[in-house]
Order: sequence, then C-alpha cells, then structure tokens
Amino acid sequence: MPVATETEQAPQAEPLCGITVEFQVAGQKAWAKGAGQTPDEATANMQATMAKAIVALETPQPAPQPNYYEKLGRLITCGYAKAKGDAKLTERFSKAIQLVTCGHVRPGMTSDVIFYVQTQQADSTTQYYVDGRTYTCTCADAQRHATEDGYLCKHALAVKLTQKLAHASK
Ligand SMILES: [Zn+2]
Repeated sequence: MPVATETEQAPQAEPLCGITVEFQVAGQKAWAKGAGQTPDEATANMQATMAKAIVALETPQPAPQPNYYEKLGRLITCGYAKAKGDAKLTERFSKAIQLVTCGHVRPGMTSDVIFYVQTQQADSTTQYYVDGRTYTCTCADAQRHATEDGYLCKHALAVKLTQKLAHASK
C-alpha cells in the first residue's frame, strides 16, 4: 500500500480548519486559537498557542509596589505633622526623605539592626552607622545632641522611615 509522503498542497491560502478553545489558567479565562489545513494541524497549532498562553499566565508578575509611594506619602505627611513647630526637625526630616528616596539607606550585610546611611557631600561619600533599635548614629550631629532625649539626626530619621516603609510593604 503506497504511503503518501507529500503533504497535500493547500488549494488556497485560507486555512481549512480552525479550532478555538477556552480554558482556565491561574484563575483567569483564556482562549487559544489554532488553524491549519487539517484538523491535526489546527489542533497542533492550537495546543502550541495554549502552551504559550499558559506559560505567560503562570509566570509570576513582578512584585507589585502599589503601596510604596502611597505609604511613603502618608509617612511624610505624618512626619511633617509631628515635626510641626520644630524648624530644625522639619529640615532634618526633609533630608531624611531624600536619603530614603535616593536609596542611601541600606541594611547591614549581617544584620538588619545596623543600617548604613550614605551622605554625599560635594566631592565625597561618607557612610554612617545607625542602630535600628536605639537610633543612635555615628555622625557628628548625633554626637553633639547625644544628651538630648529623643533627638534623631537625619540618618536616624531616614532609618526609621525605611523601617516603617518595609513594615508596611510586607
Ligand atoms: Zn546621623
């Protein structure tokens, strides 16, 4: 019995068969279409489309950060409200916001208790260490006010803000 080795040539460009299936993946409805000259070809094409759709839909989306700026805005408003009447604190808080939003605050390598805060001067970068529990800082400003109860330098304020943001996004 002769075996057909040649693929039947399509008499026209239009695919003869078309299949559309609806399916669900990751709780979402999706459709896959397949077209071909034969039902087998259409099915194969449909399955390929479906496989691609499943991969796309099951791939986790990058972690959304819808709350970050919203939360930051609230913390800033709240911080300014608390500092009201204290011009120096307001100024330090403004600088702290800059440090946070510019990414100058980062947890230490081995512990999230010690934070490194970088300050950029005109020609150099200085790094200060802030204890995330006591909010003591190694900068000169903090040393000068060490005896003042509850005094927070801009680095300590930046660390506190970072902690609140991290806590909020969890
Ligand atoms: Zn400091």
